[in-house]
Amino acid sequence: MKSLEIDVFLCRSDNFGVLLHCPDSGLTACIDAPELEPILAAAERRDWTITHIFTTHHHGDHVEANLALKERFNCEIIGPRNEAVAIPGIDRTVGDGDEFAFGKHLVRVIETPGHTAGHVCYHLPEDKLLFSADTLFALGCGRLFERSAIDMWHSLQKLAELPDETIVYFGHEYTLSNARFALTIDPDNSRLKSRAEDIEIMRARGDFTVPTTIALEKETNPFLRANDPDIRRTLGMPTESDEDVFAEIRKRKDNF
Ligand code: ZN
Ligand code: FE
Repeated sequence: MKSLEIDVFLCRSDNFGVLLHCPDSGLTACIDAPELEPILAAAERRDWTITHIFTTHHHGDHVEANLALKERFNCEIIGPRNEAVAIPGIDRTVGDGDEFAFGKHLVRVIETPGHTAGHVCYHLPEDKLLFSADTLFALGCGRLFERSAIDMWHSLQKLAELPDETIVYFGHEYTLSNARFALTIDPDNSRLKSRAEDIEIMRARGDFTVPTTIALEKETNPFLRANDPDIRRTLGMPTESDEDVFAEIRKRKDNF
């Protein structure tokens, strides 16, 4: 079985478009559909025919091109059961723990309520891949539009429990601002400091910061580290619950 191939490109101003291609079966999934033209350009450049869209959540910057791609490719749109009514052209709904095949590759659905009520991430355990969209970013997490900080903390914990080596593709290039914020929360974390320096250089060159890994996020992403004693000391919250510390970090980021 050949490895899956991935093409990442920018859509809109800071959304990532991602095409996931299985060379054995010829299938190609578009992870969300932020903008038609760059998606078509990537598919043409690679000579891939889009057969699926894996939708993570209903926001316009993730579903805008659903109907146009469906019209063009007659692709199957898979998306979250808990917000299916808001997803244009959805064919098949999925929920937590559901599994389906993409060629011979297993895809597992992880529900991660927080950013939206029904947000799902797509995990390919055998390929060690996670598509986390607007739940987990490099050094960040999604804003809480439809669910509480408690819900988001538990959603992020599900992702943190995945194997360290899992490669994570996320929804937005917010990493530079996330890095600058993370340093205010976790200023003595040497791994974070060197990562932030790398990110400054990458972004100055115009390079994308996607993908990341679960291991790297656990070491440096303050939104996964609400139980860290140094962060708690910085926030003056030594004995509060992890959920409360997480909520405080999220609130500070909203105002950063
Ligand atoms: Zn969103
Ligand atoms: Fe988004």
